[in-house]
Amino acid sequence: MRIGIFGEAEDPQCLAVAREAAALGAEALLFDSGALAAGRPLSLLDGRMFYLGEPVDDVKGFYLRSVPSPYVPAMERDDTLVLYEDWFTTFAQTRERAAYVLSWLLQLEHQGATLVNGPHAASMLQYKPFQLHVLRSLGTRVPRTLISNDPAAIRAFHAEVKDVIYKPVLGGALTRPLDTEALERLGTVTASPVIFQERVPGEDLRVMLVGEDIVSCVAIETPAPHLDFRSDPAYRSGQATYREVVLPEPVRRFCREAARACGLTLAGIDLKHHGDQFVFLELNSSPIYLDVEQKQGHAISRAIARRVVEAARS
Ligand code: ADP
Ligand code: MG
Ligand code: MG
Repeated sequence: MRIGIFGEAEDPQCLAVAREAAALGAEALLFDSGALAAGRPLSLLDGRMFYLGEPVDDVKGFYLRSVPSPYVPAMERDDTLVLYEDWFTTFAQTRERAAYVLSWLLQLEHQGATLVNGPHAASMLQYKPFQLHVLRSLGTRVPRTLISNDPAAIRAFHAEVKDVIYKPVLGGALTRPLDTEALERLGTVTASPVIFQERVPGEDLRVMLVGEDIVSCVAIETPAPHLDFRSDPAYRSGQATYREVVLPEPVRRFCREAARACGLTLAGIDLKHHGDQFVFLELNSSPIYLDVEQKQGHAISRAIARRVVEAARS
């Protein structure tokens, strides 16, 4: 019996899930997300899938760690930005490869295979404005939020809320305070909308959900207070510590409902916690969790492997 893992060849989480699958009696076949870019052979022959020349139609369960993105033109070579070379050919090829892999994934799902997570969730739905809508509609607490490219609206929000942070709609930057200096640069925001939120006090929680199970919930402990814990040197150098947190049942239910509404069977959910308040920030569809797994002994890889293997067997 085989399961499939989509991701980078050396990704430690891919390896960890593969190990756990092996312990459950399933062989893991790695679909290297860099295979197409490296020119290795993938084919669809009358709808039958071949990976590196080998038929893979028997594989019915998949863990999607990463899939190629159709949005990002590759502008890097050997760790150097190559902004002035012909970008369009690379961009078009990147997009074509991503469309091909996404078609594979959609086909797999359509044929009844189980994908953790499904292609839509894995590749596209990490959109915070939509997630905030989902969370709000379920009745969870979310921060007061303005998402806008309108400097006047942002100034009005700041005047009312006062302690405001900002962060990108899709990602790729740390959360920062909307301070005097940032307010002076507000003219640049017209280029693309940004998320502005009330700053929620309290500790950062990370919930790991697999299916209906909350496999892990920890507070991330940093020695000094930071707006975004990832800017803490201790966190960046792998020195982060965690403390196990037991969530009240209503919050656990919100986690399950929010993940389901966002189409996620695997989710890394971020909350702020202070007193009896649990404020939801976002859901991550391919969360990084190995540090928590190793330091806390939470069997997250095993839970993912079990879900994929059981689905592939049924
Ligand atoms: P991402 O992790 O995708 O960059 P998050 O919404 O999880 O986006 O924000 C990153 C971190 O920034 C959070 O874990 C939290 O520490 C901090 N943060 C984000 N939004 C707020 C907020 N409204 N109030 C306080 N801290 C926040
Ligand atoms: Mg986060
Ligand atoms: Mg995120």
